[in-house]
Amino acid sequence: MSNKYELYGEAIARAKAQVKLLEWAEKIGIETRGSYARHCPFCQGKGKFHIRETARCYSSSCSGNKAMDHIGLMRAIKGCDFRQAGDALLEYANIRNPYHS
Ligand SMILES: [Zn+2]
Repeated sequence: MSNKYELYGEAIARAKAQVKLLEWAEKIGIETRGSYARHCPFCQGKGKFHIRETARCYSSSCSGNKAMDHIGLMRAIKGCDFRQAGDALLEYANIRNPYHS
């Protein structure tokens, strides 16, 4: 039998497959143009922050120069923890949160 921690991980994986990262980036306040943020949310660089399977800034001196998924991106932008980002993603994807039952 799966515990809640495992169920939570599975729910997050489903949500990530369901919600495009680009859509999620917009949802958490990043203005996009094509598959780029208009301005990198970390260094404000124009056309440097790419969002596809993962999101990252291509400026080597930027704190956003690391591959981020839905959770990592929200944590970095909002300064929240894993659970806060995960809960928000599940709510947005309309997937039942195992911790809310
Ligand atoms: Zn940047």
